[in-house]
Amino acid sequence: MSTTDKAPAATGMKDRIEAVLAKTPTGLLIDGQWRDASDGGTFEVENPATGEVIATMASATREDSQAAMDAAADAQESWARTPARERSEILRRAFDLVQERAEDLALLMTLEMGKPLAEAAGEVKYGGEFLRWFAEEAVRDYGRYLDTPEGNLRMLVTHKPVGPCLLITPWNFPLAMATRKVAPAVAAGCTMVLKPARLTPLTSQYFAQLMLDAGLPAGVLNVVSSASAAAVSEPIMADPRLRKVSFTGSTPVGKQLMKLATDNVLRTSMELGGNGPLIVFEDADVDKAVAGAMAAKMRNMGEACTAANRLLVHESVVDEFVEKMAAKMAALTVGNGVDDGVSVGPMVEAKARDSVEEFVTDAVERGAKVVVGGARVDGPGYFFQPTLLRDVPVDARAVTEEIFGPVAPVVTFKDEDEAVALANATEYGLASYVFTENISRGLRIGDRIEFGLMGLNVGVISNAAAPFGGVKQSGLGREGGAEGLHEYTTTQYIGVENPWANVPNPGTGTPA
Ligand code: NAD
Repeated sequence: MSTTDKAPAATGMKDRIEAVLAKTPTGLLIDGQWRDASDGGTFEVENPATGEVIATMASATREDSQAAMDAAADAQESWARTPARERSEILRRAFDLVQERAEDLALLMTLEMGKPLAEAAGEVKYGGEFLRWFAEEAVRDYGRYLDTPEGNLRMLVTHKPVGPCLLITPWNFPLAMATRKVAPAVAAGCTMVLKPARLTPLTSQYFAQLMLDAGLPAGVLNVVSSASAAAVSEPIMADPRLRKVSFTGSTPVGKQLMKLATDNVLRTSMELGGNGPLIVFEDADVDKAVAGAMAAKMRNMGEACTAANRLLVHESVVDEFVEKMAAKMAALTVGNGVDDGVSVGPMVEAKARDSVEEFVTDAVERGAKVVVGGARVDGPGYFFQPTLLRDVPVDARAVTEEIFGPVAPVVTFKDEDEAVALANATEYGLASYVFTENISRGLRIGDRIEFGLMGLNVGVISNAAAPFGGVKQSGLGREGGAEGLHEYTTTQYIGVENPWANVPNPGTGTPA
């Protein structure tokens, strides 16, 4: 693998960076207005590729989050009554604006989070699709109209917006994690308070302004970035007007929020951590498996909940797999994501880089062999080499925990039962990947594997039209697909007096 020198970005790029940062609101969005924090407090956003501070943001206090909740609650009724077509068209305009402003959005993500520009552009495409998908779903939320089996009532079953929602997003996909929640909430007619991750608020702030530009009324989307997550979430979660919390982030924080949600019996959607297996059977096309493993492991520098955390490879193909994977890993270029030719950016912060290093040290101490990489890259910035480990014992932390970095541990297995047992030996159940040219076997593994998502001979499966979500401690609920809209609706049944109740049946002469 090579590293680029970390010379300052070229002049043209510097101008683009200054321009996009100047366009990005740094305040709190409350009731349609960008404003400072009530106590004037701020926090800084750093570029993880350089360690430089790139923005100073207003840091919401408890009072600010209360004001955001007030705005969301006040806007709820009129927003719920806004025709679905109007809500749909706002989303469609927002989709078009994302296409127009794609370069700005991609650059912001690279600056605050580190992913290379080409990957950031991929996220703009993926994240934007939630706006188009839910623009289409907004006008097709069918209910039911039918008689009870006894014929004594007519049943009207409809979906209503669940009500004001708190949306909490992580730093790893700053645009897509926001659109995946905001778009269905808009489609359903819910108002929102969005709390972006402290490390990456800029993309959400830019996106929120884009939603206003698309015509979203004041108060529907409120954004409260903050240095203190608890200062924002606790008063809102305690407010009886809140109806739902949708969270994407780590399992421990998700559990804390679920506990807070019990007091007001809040609806919850929880998209939590993962420990995805990628299984390569002896009848796999090994080149396809290597390509899939590279995509599933290295996307977003491994900082993805869908990452293939563990590569489980049949003993008869492991040498070929490791050799081919090593060649691909060694060919990657580590560097500042704004530079040409970079395929692996920095970890999001020093703590994340240090944690990845600990996983490697632990695996090596337990007997794993380093095939490629294995070390941090000197700063500035928080870089770690793409790393391939083999002969990794199953009790290594890199196998039992979520790595969230560019480290691929290879574990071997002997047969299908062992592969399934290894795959399921985790409290997580989000993404999994299976490589076999025997499709019946692939589908059989789908039955046996305890994961909400499975890629069969493919390493990237995220799509706005697909229901995304986990089982076990990876979470509750689904985002995207038709299911994603219903996370933001509640079902109401109206029983109507039988309209034929007093009309004699011409056959029997008695009323129905
Ligand atoms: P995190 O749990 O540290 O933070 C997520 C969000 O929660 C951030 O906005 C953070 O500020 C906020 N937060 C932290 N403590 C809080 C508290 N006490 N109350 C309210 N909010 C709080 O997670 P992260 O490090 O930002 O993201 C990485 C994790 O997210 C990984 O575990 C990853 O697997 C998971 N993730 C899951 C999905 C999914 O769809 N399942 C997608 C992306 C990331």
